[in-house]
Amino acid sequence: MQKTLVLIKPGAIQRELIGEVLKRFENKGFRICGLKMIHLTEDILRVHYAHLVERPFFARILRSMMATPVIALCLEGVEAVKVVRDMIGVTNGREAQAGTIRGDFSLSNQENMIHASDSVENAAIEIKRFFLDNEIFSYTKVNQNYINYSDELI
Ligand code: ADP
Repeated sequence: MQKTLVLIKPGAIQRELIGEVLKRFENKGFRICGLKMIHLTEDILRVHYAHLVERPFFARILRSMMATPVIALCLEGVEAVKVVRDMIGVTNGREAQAGTIRGDFSLSNQENMIHASDSVENAAIEIKRFFLDNEIFSYTKVNQNYINYSDELI
């Protein structure tokens, strides 16, 4: 099964929406295989957002992402990368579809609540960026048979 990496951003923490975000992923059926609070540094953000370092708003990204700790989350489920991206919505909260996390809780391009890996390849890299191997847990949920049939477990 696929794993993906989520960051619950400082804006969501300040707005007391950690539980709301976790609840959506739990309700969907994902298995939480890693969860921790960390304070991001400029060094890690320059790697994580390498594609944006030259953009004029990069200084704002740094300020925003280091304003408080973030919650790093590793989620596992069938097609987790795509499903989680669909659940968070497009980058700009004003354009994100209602029903998505950004669509329901953000009015901003920058302050958009959440990060999620955008490809299977990046998910593997990002999980390693934020978690040590022994911080990723493997266990079976007792309700797994009600989340997927065995022939869906890819
Ligand atoms: P996503 O987070 O949807 O994968 P990007 O990787 O393009 O999108 O951007 C990373 C983060 O940088 C966004 O989530 C947002 O917080 C911030 N960002 C992106 N584009 C802008 C912008 N034009 N103005 C301000 N902040 C932006």
